[in-house]
Amino acid sequence: MTLFDSPAFEGHEGVHAFADEKSGLKCIIAVHSTARGPAAGGCRMWPYPSSEAALEDALKLSRAMSYKNAMADLDLGGGKSVIIGDARTQKTPALFEAFGRAVQDVGGKYWTAEDVGVSPTDLMHARKNTYYVAGLEGHPAASGDPSPVTAEGVFRGVRLCVQRAYNRDLDGVRVAIQGVGHVGAYLAEKLHAAGARLILTDVNTEALARVAAATGAEIVAPNAIFDVDCDVFAPCALGGAVSLDTLPRIRAKVIAGGANNQLADAEAGRELFNRGVLYAPDYVINGGGIINVAGEIRALDRGEAFDPAWVDEKLDRLAQTLEEVLDQAQRERRPTHEVANEIARARIEGAAEKRAAA
Ligand code: NAD
Repeated sequence: MTLFDSPAFEGHEGVHAFADEKSGLKCIIAVHSTARGPAAGGCRMWPYPSSEAALEDALKLSRAMSYKNAMADLDLGGGKSVIIGDARTQKTPALFEAFGRAVQDVGGKYWTAEDVGVSPTDLMHARKNTYYVAGLEGHPAASGDPSPVTAEGVFRGVRLCVQRAYNRDLDGVRVAIQGVGHVGAYLAEKLHAAGARLILTDVNTEALARVAAATGAEIVAPNAIFDVDCDVFAPCALGGAVSLDTLPRIRAKVIAGGANNQLADAEAGRELFNRGVLYAPDYVINGGGIINVAGEIRALDRGEAFDPAWVDEKLDRLAQTLEEVLDQAQRERRPTHEVANEIARARIEGAAEKRAAA
């Protein structure tokens, strides 16, 4: 299959491949859409088994960023970069300096930030050679760790879903959280403060014990989280938690969490709907992180300091968008993720038409 025939290529404006022999950099920068503004999305460093696998991942992730940025109502398009390599053993300052040159070569059509395997320190090296980096630390426009903002958006989304599914507030509601890393731990704190009763799991037993102690939560083994008696299931670990295998075990009427790619496949999304489970589409509810990054891009572009009030306003708007998705899905009796995809595509196409007419 050629690049242009790949289903993942669909709608992409450009795909850029860069290699730097000296530092060993091999990276792909995929720009899905700049209709709403410059493409923004993090850089992932991963030991992909082949360049085809890296390309496929870059394409899927960049399109997902277009959808996420559109639903977060940001003036940003979607893009993503991947570096082929092992983040534990193959990172060097020179590698990220070369990556910075690659980002600069895309000419401002793509803004990079952190993703799996890439830290703010790595981005500082990239920054030596490009302007188009967000997610840095130690300057007035810096947005810092996006996880608390992601968790705040997820918290508001969980509250909204509980209101709709159970007609109650969070006090006494049982929430099962899978994964108490950056996002899951902040989410647990917020839910605990709102009176929710928590059941937690994580493969990292140290983190699990710490968060459980702080929130008075019950702990279960990783595989047992699907079977617990709960009102909300909040996936906050890796992707694919909701599948045709796990769904029959999940007792919650609400699935709402911070993880990306929660649905193992489209069938799982359909099945959720058939079972009457209220699902908050992942890339809508977890848009707080990219809103935070967008706050940094905005501040850099204006030469101003980072403005938390702007971020908070966007989070409010994100909750409204989630409500619109849930309303439309209910009205039309359709799965929420299908409605979200449709709205995202319409927002992107609308921006493209406006740009073409200008
Ligand atoms: P993290 O690595 O800090 O946390 C993930 C946690 O999940 C870790 O503690 C890990 O031990 C645990 N985990 C892994 N496999 C598990 C399993 N099988 N069962 C139980 N626990 C397991 O990552 P994070 O930044 O908190 O992100 C969590 C999810 O949210 C990811 O899917 C990420 O893509 C998504 N996300 C994060 C942000 C952000 O701002 N950090 C923004 C948007 C989306």
